[in-house]
Amino acid sequence: MLRQYELVEKVRSYDPEADEDLLNKAYVFSMKAHGTQLRASGDPYFSHPIEVAGLLTDLKLDDETIATAILHDTIEDTLATPEHIEKLFGANVARLVDGVTKLSKIEALTENERAAENLRKFLLAMSDDIRVLLVKLADRLHNMRTLHFIKNEEKRRRIARETMDIYAPLAERIGMYEFMKEMQTLAFRELEPEAYASITKRLEQLQEGGGDRIARISSGVKMLLSRAGLDAEVTGREKHPYSIWRKMAERHISFEQLSDVMAFRAILPDTESCYQALGIIHQRWPMVPGRFKDYISTPKRNGYRSLHTSVIHNEKVRIEIQIRSREMHAQAEYGYAAHWAYKADIHEPVAQTAWIQDLVEILEHAESPEELLEHTRMAMYQDRIFAFTPKGELIQLPKGATPVDFAYAVHTNLGDQAVGAKVRHKSRSLCG
Ligand code: MN
Repeated sequence: MLRQYELVEKVRSYDPEADEDLLNKAYVFSMKAHGTQLRASGDPYFSHPIEVAGLLTDLKLDDETIATAILHDTIEDTLATPEHIEKLFGANVARLVDGVTKLSKIEALTENERAAENLRKFLLAMSDDIRVLLVKLADRLHNMRTLHFIKNEEKRRRIARETMDIYAPLAERIGMYEFMKEMQTLAFRELEPEAYASITKRLEQLQEGGGDRIARISSGVKMLLSRAGLDAEVTGREKHPYSIWRKMAERHISFEQLSDVMAFRAILPDTESCYQALGIIHQRWPMVPGRFKDYISTPKRNGYRSLHTSVIHNEKVRIEIQIRSREMHAQAEYGYAAHWAYKADIHEPVAQTAWIQDLVEILEHAESPEELLEHTRMAMYQDRIFAFTPKGELIQLPKGATPVDFAYAVHTNLGDQAVGAKVRHKSRSLCG
C-alpha cells in the first residue's frame, strides 16, 4: 500500500500543480472513516481505496480523481455523509464520489446478454463525468485482484461473471485495454479454472523455447524489411489467456492450431510500403491459408485499416502480423484513453488530463460510423428512464413514462391489476 507521502509524491511527479492539501486531507479522512474495518484478505479496509488511487496514478489522473478514489467507499461503507465530503473537499470531488457511490449501488443481474447490455448502457449514461467511470473501473480491477480472498465460491463467481459481462466491456469501450485484459484474465481464472490452467501452462511451455521469442521474431521481421529498404517499426505481444480461449472456442480449434498466440505489428511510412512489406513477408514465410485480410483496400465499417496475415514462422510457429502505415495506426488508436495515457509525456504536466477531455469530445462528437452509432445510442439513453423490478431486473422506459407503464412493462397482469405506486418511497399516482 502506498504511504501518504508516496501517493502525494507520485501525483506531484506528473502534475506539479496538484493540490497537495486535498490529497493529504482525503488520505487522512478515509483512513479515519474506515477505521478498523477489514477486507476479506485481512488487510485494513483502508488499503483498498489507496490501491485504487494508486492504479489511477498510473494513468496520471488529476488530483480530484485521485481524491475521489481515496474517498470512493466512504459514503457507502462509513458514517461519512455527502454534505461532509462537500464541505471538506469541494463540490467537484463530492459530485464525483456521489457518482461512484451511485454506480456501486446498482446490483448487476446479468443472467442474460440483454440485461448485461442494458446495464452497460446504464452505467455509461450515469457516468456523465467520465472520471466517475474510471474510478469505478479501477475499483473493480482491485476487487478482482483480491477476489481469491473471498471464501464463498458462489459470490466469487458472481463477481467474476459481472466483471466479464459488464466491466471488462466497459473498459474496452473507453479504450482501457490494460484494465480490460487484466479483468478478463482474473475473471477467466475464476470462471474456467481448468481452461485457464491449461492455457497458461501452454504459454509457459512456449516461452521455455527461448525466453525472448517475441523480441527475437520482432527484430527478425524488422531486419528482413530493412534489407529491402523499408523502415519499419515492429512490435510483438503474446495474446492473453482469455482471448486465446475465446478464439479456440469460437473456431473450435486446439491450442496448436491457433495461429495468433503471438501477434506482431509492423508500422510503415505509407500505404505503398505496407503492400511491399506484405510481399516480402509472404516470400520469406508461407502464409496460413484463409487468414489474410486486406482492410486497406476494404476498410472495416468503423474505418479501421490494416493488412492482417498469419505466416508459419521458423520452428513451425504460426504468428499473426498486422501491417499498417503510421497514419492508419494513429487512426486505429485514436479515441482510446489508454493510448493517450501511456504516451503522455511525463515532462509535459499539462498533458495528463488532456486525454480525458479528448475522450469526452469523442463521446460527444463521434466521427466514424461506429462511434456515431454508439454516440446516438448514448444520446438515446438520456431520453430513457431506468427502473428496477423488485428482483433487480432493469426495465427501460421512455422519458415521461408513468408507474402504470412500468407495471405493464413487467407483466400485462400487473398492469391490469396495479392500484397504486411508490416512487422513491413516496406514494405517487399511477399515471403521473
Ligand atoms: Mn471500492
